[in-house]
Amino acid sequence: MSWSASVLTLFPEMFPGPLGLSLAGDALARGLWSLDVRDIRAHGLGRHRAVDDTPAGGGAGMVIRADVLAAAVDEVSPQGDPRPRLLMSPRGRPLTQARVRQLAAGPGAVLVCGRFEGVDERVIEGRGLEEVSIGDYVLSGGEPAALVLMDACVRLIPGVMGKDASGAEESFENNLLEYPHYTRPREWEGRAIPDVLLSGDHGRIARWRREQAERLTRERRPDLLD
Ligand code: SAH
Repeated sequence: MSWSASVLTLFPEMFPGPLGLSLAGDALARGLWSLDVRDIRAHGLGRHRAVDDTPAGGGAGMVIRADVLAAAVDEVSPQGDPRPRLLMSPRGRPLTQARVRQLAAGPGAVLVCGRFEGVDERVIEGRGLEEVSIGDYVLSGGEPAALVLMDACVRLIPGVMGKDASGAEESFENNLLEYPHYTRPREWEGRAIPDVLLSGDHGRIARWRREQAERLTRERRPDLLD
């Protein structure tokens, strides 16, 4: 069974978007993962298919209704669905490569995209939605966050990347940022490729890369070393 993503959104036209191209798009076409996109508005109320209402207690903006969103969740993810139900939210636990690995190794995910001020708190509790953030900034909707999360997961699905590119040396594995890369030409605008990389000495190259990764991590992301 392939990795299965279900997305609940008010803007289904945003999918697959960038995930229809390149690595993720090829993998989608090859059936290594599947994408099921549902319009929350299909469960909207009345002639105008209303999905939102004004916030209890007053204030700006609109809130997605619990009853409408719950109906949408229940349709794609009935009781017993083994997939985690994720709500894209700036209040969530920040997404990490470790969590991405966990998700990619599982059966897939149900991704709920918020809009407006967010969603009624009761549906988060009532449907066991796990809030996930992609960073400490505010988007206008959860769709770009869902695309980010799926992109990060899909590239780790076995068979999606070539087997040489396991991602084992990439940034955030071993809590390090990746070392610098170079390719031809050997000299460009007076800048040369570091000699060690042309030495053919694989032990020295590995040591140099490790040192560079540690240096970059110390300089830019000391928090990863804690
Ligand atoms: N009023 C909310 C922000 C709503 S932004 C607050 O202050 O917390 C509208 C929607 O965009 C959210 O419901 C969520 O689905 C999505 N979103 C915004 N920023 C996000 C982030 N950093 N990570 C994941 N989703 C985000």
